[in-house]
Amino acid sequence: MTAQDCDIVISGGGVAGLSAAALFGQAGFRVVCVDPAPPITDREAEGADLRTTAILQPAQALLAEAGIWPRLAEHAAPLRVMRIVDAGGDTPEPRVVKDFESSDISDKPFGWNLPNWLLRRELVAQLDTLSHVEFRPGVAASTLFTRETEARVGLDDGTRLRCRMVIAADGRNSPMRQAAGVPVKTTRYGQKALAFAVTHPIPHDNVSTEIHRSGGPFTLVPLPDHGGRPSSAVVWMEEGAEAQRLAALDETAFEEEMSTRSCHLFGPLTLASRRTVWPIISQIADRMWAERVALVAEAAHVVPPIGAQGLNMSLGDMHVLLDLALAAPDQLGEAEMLKAYHRRRHWEVAARVKGIDLLNRTSMLSAPALRDARAMGLQALYALGPVRKTLMQLGLGARG
Ligand SMILES: Cc1cc2nc3c(=O)[nH]c(=O)nc-3n(C[C@H](O)[C@H](O)[C@H](O)COP(=O)(O)OP(=O)(O)OC[C@H]3O[C@@H](n4cnc5c(N)ncnc54)[C@H](O)[C@@H]3O)c2cc1C
Repeated sequence: MTAQDCDIVISGGGVAGLSAAALFGQAGFRVVCVDPAPPITDREAEGADLRTTAILQPAQALLAEAGIWPRLAEHAAPLRVMRIVDAGGDTPEPRVVKDFESSDISDKPFGWNLPNWLLRRELVAQLDTLSHVEFRPGVAASTLFTRETEARVGLDDGTRLRCRMVIAADGRNSPMRQAAGVPVKTTRYGQKALAFAVTHPIPHDNVSTEIHRSGGPFTLVPLPDHGGRPSSAVVWMEEGAEAQRLAALDETAFEEEMSTRSCHLFGPLTLASRRTVWPIISQIADRMWAERVALVAEAAHVVPPIGAQGLNMSLGDMHVLLDLALAAPDQLGEAEMLKAYHRRRHWEVAARVKGIDLLNRTSMLSAPALRDARAMGLQALYALGPVRKTLMQLGLGARG
């Protein structure tokens, strides 16, 4: 491959960009993927991404089709039940507990949970097997020049790549989206999420548990055992100042607070990783495309970490983009193809961003009367069997 003559330049080698490189590379396109930050592929290394991603059924099917899933399967913890707990009473105790069983809608688990650092490691290993994919860590995309027939991406090492399509997978502040002049709408909640891993004496039995009280949900998602003990990934959302206070507590005090916040459902929780803090926003790009540019993943949409939607929506973007590219490879990156991508994705992305915004606002409620209303809402929703099943299918991305 001559570097200046490839089909696709992917700006961004986060989990989304690396997935795009693997999917389009596997499909036979010549791909160059660049990222200024080399991927950290070791759990203990400083800066490792300790979040986990629950890969839901449609995303898993896409990764399986592209031959990536066999690398991931042995590290994944299946999720068979989603448990929603309302603990919004006077004391942090469960008062409404509802289980959503994957067996109600399918014979497969809802999804499979994997640590992000491990996803990066396995995706980079997959790229190594694809001769027409070049991954260039340590290099940023810095300029974009497009015309009807091609795009030129200037890199900060002084080289320039000519290609037929740019995939902007360079995160929520996407430099390629900004260079292409696509505006975004952003909602700030003043919230932050703490993400870390824990071990606990009571097994999780492949149940993902979301506990609501105020400030945002406290979610435990199953991981494989760690050091011989049951283990879960935790995302704990709180109002910003409170999240910073929790992040600064010494380990013993933090363990006490998180065990209380988890209503002791799994016994006393023990910290099994560093704590990382993530700002929470909602954001959606006005368009999923610009001339010769497709926006995917957080470059196009950001949602609070509720219901494991973020990366799954991103893989949904890539599924559609790849379908269109394979249907008419000669038209890769042309305006008609990119408009079709926008038409097929934007309405669904917008609906999900809106839905998750609503769930997050409900979850943040702190006034007791509103917390009671939330608990009643959960009861009512659960009582309507068909509505519940439809919502579960929508959560899986099975529709749309
Ligand atoms: C606490 C938390 C928990 C989450 N849990 C889940 C979950 O369970 N399930 C789920 O589906 N989603 C989850 N998400 C969302 C998910 O993590 C993101 O959707 C996912 O990381 C995809 O991000 P991305 O690759 O688009 O962006 P990023 O991970 O931000 O990657 C963007 C990349 O672009 C690079 N970049 C920046 N500038 C340039 C440039 N000029 N040139 C080239 N590259 C550049 C950056 O270095 C970075 O590597 C969670 C999010 C949070 C905050």
